[in-house]
Amino acid sequence: MSLPGSTVQVPSTGVTPGSDGARAHLFTAGSVEEYRRVLAEGIGRVAARVSEVDRPFTGATPDELAPRIAGIDLDRPLGDSGAALDELHDVYLRDAVYFHHPRYLAHLNCPVVIPALLGEAVLSAVNSSLDTWDQSVGGTLIERRLIDWTADRIGLGPAADGIFTSGGTQSNLQAMLLAREETCASLVGRATERQSRPELLSRLRILTSAAGHFSVQKAAKLLGLGADAVITVPTDADRRMRTADLAREIARCREEGLVVMAVVATGGTTDFGTIDPLPQIADICAAAGVWLHVDAAYGCGLLVSPTRRHLLDGIERADSVTVDYHKSFFQPVSSSALLVRDRRVLRHATWHADYLNPARMVEQRIPNQVDKSIQTTRRFDALKLWLTLRIMGPDAIGALFDEVIDRAAAAWQLLTEDPRFEVVTRSQLSTVVFRYLPAAAGREVVDDANLYAREALAASGAGLVAGTKVDGAHYLKFTLLNPETTLDDIAHVLDLIAEHAGWYARTRATAELSCPVG
Ligand SMILES: *Cc1c(COP(=O)(O)O)cnc(C)c1O
Repeated sequence: MSLPGSTVQVPSTGVTPGSDGARAHLFTAGSVEEYRRVLAEGIGRVAARVSEVDRPFTGATPDELAPRIAGIDLDRPLGDSGAALDELHDVYLRDAVYFHHPRYLAHLNCPVVIPALLGEAVLSAVNSSLDTWDQSVGGTLIERRLIDWTADRIGLGPAADGIFTSGGTQSNLQAMLLAREETCASLVGRATERQSRPELLSRLRILTSAAGHFSVQKAAKLLGLGADAVITVPTDADRRMRTADLAREIARCREEGLVVMAVVATGGTTDFGTIDPLPQIADICAAAGVWLHVDAAYGCGLLVSPTRRHLLDGIERADSVTVDYHKSFFQPVSSSALLVRDRRVLRHATWHADYLNPARMVEQRIPNQVDKSIQTTRRFDALKLWLTLRIMGPDAIGALFDEVIDRAAAAWQLLTEDPRFEVVTRSQLSTVVFRYLPAAAGREVVDDANLYAREALAASGAGLVAGTKVDGAHYLKFTLLNPETTLDDIAHVLDLIAEHAGWYARTRATAELSCPVG
């Protein structure tokens, strides 16, 4: 470096050769033009790909893609964003699964709203970390407003609080952590409890329905509970928790000296989209003095539904609630939260570190979100929801969710009238579980025909559906989250499934005829 008009050599600053080039990539005051250019280029590629996608998936297999990705030398950079985007097209953008496509009908993945994408771009560029006030400032307050707004929508009352998380799995884990600690704290106070903590942990039980989410099992494992800590309560014909069985299980646990630390009710089961009877479950939990957690990872969109909010009635009596904005609020992954009725319980997630959030900061009333979270460095995911609410508003989000629920009801009706298929439980949300029934085929052939149809459909890329098991048999599942999916799209995919499954069943019957077993 030399000063203009000067020949004086400035002594070396110790900067290693080549770092000037590297620095050009840092997002700083000096590189904003590069930032504009590179991001616009990236947005251009994504826009081009999204606009040309004519099916949700190309059908690419791991065997085709793996060598392409393995063949890239990560130690030899291309040095140029255009070239890297070309390469990215080859290894990712071309074959990605596109959730915005109307024939993507598989998992709980939503098309995303543009205000949230704007939020995503802003939050990663500014890169606030929401662990402490001194790394986020307004971001902390925005997250807190959204937590209060969500708790208000749920009706959790004036002492409510919560925290954004990476997803429903983490929200459920933290809820179970809080329930475990509250339960242990209440037991330790009792004179009769002379057990060591490991002994106590082995007696803790969580009750959830047979249709509850597997993350509850994982949480129990991570929290050091016993292998049989999660008791599955049977469901009724609508796949909702049977409350008589719940009451009976709680009583049985008590008789056996076990401690029920939480009941997990599901506000929209992943497979069946049905909602456990929340008011009755809340009554049972209140009478038994048991923590009620409502897993509304899927059904939380009802909180903004202009017509269906009542389906979640009773959720306001929960001790904790999981919501996944990245499922039914049309937000990009990840965006989720855990809400609690009594903000004091979040202390079980608190640890004061001298370098980050010393205890004196609490006295100084400095809002450090890390005190409530099981993460430290944490994304400002809340910004996506903030811009969504500020640009679109909650009713617009609720209307989108309502639309897919209506579509699922119409799809269910279509399936009930179609003799080729059998359909189970009518969803209260937006899933449809069904299977193809080939004429006069045994159970094993029905299972295999449906498994085959799902794979064949995916391989063609013409549509993507999910699969699940119902009472031990293989079924197919639509999860509708795209308002652009029409009933025609659904009918078309059903025809394709019937073709694939029918072909499989016929081929197998012919094969069995020509070489009979035995
Ligand atoms: C999806 C889901 C979860 C897990 O949420 P992630 O965000 O995928 O971690 C938990 N519970 C229910 C009912 C779900 O549908």
